[in-house]
Amino acid sequence: MVNPKLLCRKHLLGEHGEIHKHRHNFVKKHSITNRVSPVVQIEPSSMKSRHDQLSEEMFRRGYNHRSPFEQPDISYLPFCQQVAKVDINISVNDLKTRCPICDKNLTI
Ligand SMILES: [Zn+2]
Ligand SMILES: [Zn+2]
Repeated sequence: MVNPKLLCRKHLLGEHGEIHKHRHNFVKKHSITNRVSPVVQIEPSSMKSRHDQLSEEMFRRGYNHRSPFEQPDISYLPFCQQVAKVDINISVNDLKTRCPICDKNLTI
């Protein structure tokens, strides 16, 4: 949920790939319990909008992307999981400790 403009190439492409993978899990109606607890890592209700933000930034940078994305059906999930929200501070800190390039971009 970090501003895509601030992500390094690896993490921009990585998160984009994850979203496509997660879509498959939703289609298969897999449990996402370990992705939303104890820490919320994905936002089921925002899959499409997040995908489109990322692919727009990929396009802006000239990376190849034209795989369309449809919001998966998440109605099989418990309601609290459908509306789970990522804590952006955790995501930012996570990136900052794991990636020197993102760290630089995310440091004001
Ligand atoms: Zn895509
Ligand atoms: Zn990075």
